Amino acid sequence: MFDPTLTDEQEALIQTARRFAAEKIVPVAAKYDETGEWPADVFREAWEVGLMNVEIPESLGGLGLSTVGGSLVTEELAYGCSGIATSIMANHLASLPLMIAGTDAQKERYLGSLIADPIFASYACSEPEAGSDVAGMQTRIVQDGDDWILNGQKRWITNASHASWYTGFATTDPSLRHKGITAFVVPKDHPGVSSGKKEDKLGQRASDTADVIFEDVRLSADNLLGEPGQGFAIAMETFDKSRPMIAAICSGIIRRCAEESRAYALERKTFGVPIAQHQAVQFMIAEMVMAEEAVKLLWLKAAWEVDNGIKRTSTSAIAKAYGADLAMKCATDAVQVFGGYGYTKEYPVEKLMRDA
Ligand SMILES: Cc1cc2nc3c(=O)[nH]c(=O)nc-3n(C[C@H](O)[C@H](O)[C@H](O)COP(=O)(O)OP(=O)(O)OC[C@H]3O[C@@H](n4cnc5c(N)ncnc54)[C@H](O)[C@@H]3O)c2cc1C
Repeated sequence: MFDPTLTDEQEALIQTARRFAAEKIVPVAAKYDETGEWPADVFREAWEVGLMNVEIPESLGGLGLSTVGGSLVTEELAYGCSGIATSIMANHLASLPLMIAGTDAQKERYLGSLIADPIFASYACSEPEAGSDVAGMQTRIVQDGDDWILNGQKRWITNASHASWYTGFATTDPSLRHKGITAFVVPKDHPGVSSGKKEDKLGQRASDTADVIFEDVRLSADNLLGEPGQGFAIAMETFDKSRPMIAAICSGIIRRCAEESRAYALERKTFGVPIAQHQAVQFMIAEMVMAEEAVKLLWLKAAWEVDNGIKRTSTSAIAKAYGADLAMKCATDAVQVFGGYGYTKEYPVEKLMRDA
């Protein structure tokens, strides 16, 4: 039975991540949002404290946390800056195809590398012409003797410019759609692999989002994940297992909206009273708190299902979709609570709105 009660260990983990967000992320979030620079120092410290790659199994030197544990950390980091949380979380996204379908040797090499050094990895699925429609991907993988030749372009790939390796997907024949897709893992410094244009985004600006280009990349069987043709199933399982964490990012945004709005509403006066005394303002803040509770319960359940081997795609999809919708609503309302000031960079709520 699903039981959202957290263990003492999980409560302690939340406190560590919350302190890190307050001390190391909140003070610099506006700067990295403004410049779009890669927050290397923050990432290095997060890695040193043990807040990155927390789901990598203990056998590979990781903490071996559950999806619930990883999502709890993600929520706290996202409270500080959802762009920074997205980049940290994307290492897990990149790791999942290996955790799902990698051999022991592949896991040791690639997942082990994330534990050995503060490096990044990316999950390269989306393409310029294929985002929602994963089965419509055009990146080609063609057998050549014992090897495979990879050609194509990926887009919107989180951490792409800074990643040391990519997990990705390509098709042997686009007309086969989901049946033709094969998963692979490849180092960034492999001949023919490069990253391309970095997106200049509306929000989540501290996270790097860029193209990945494959030009006549020669792969061996060691680079394939699972069997040829199993890629679509691996990609979908990766989404099922990563969506709770994306919903946890939404929770972080929502909680920040509620806390910032509450504090401002108690301090800002109109018509001789704090705006917190106007019922229209109370409604908005109350709805943020309702959203916080609802979204958290949704992703806790989705994460619990992942951890307990319950394969129910809809739970994690609902958590992510509803979480994202409510994060957007709460951030829009937070800007409203702040009035004109909400529209300026003097306060953090306009960033929350762009990030959501
Ligand atoms: C900040 C950021 C980070 C990302 N990181 C990664 C990453 O690390 N790795 C990766 O692989 N991808 C990543 N993505 C890509 C993301 O997964 C895609 O943007 C997403 O899948 C949507 O694809 P698209 O942008 O091509 O939109 P499209 O698929 O072209 O959709 C356009 C619009 O049409 C709607 N639509 C599409 N199909 C339907 C349908 N059947 N019915 C109704 N409406 C529909 C969509 O909801 C959307 O509103 C990232 C994107 C962003 C913005």
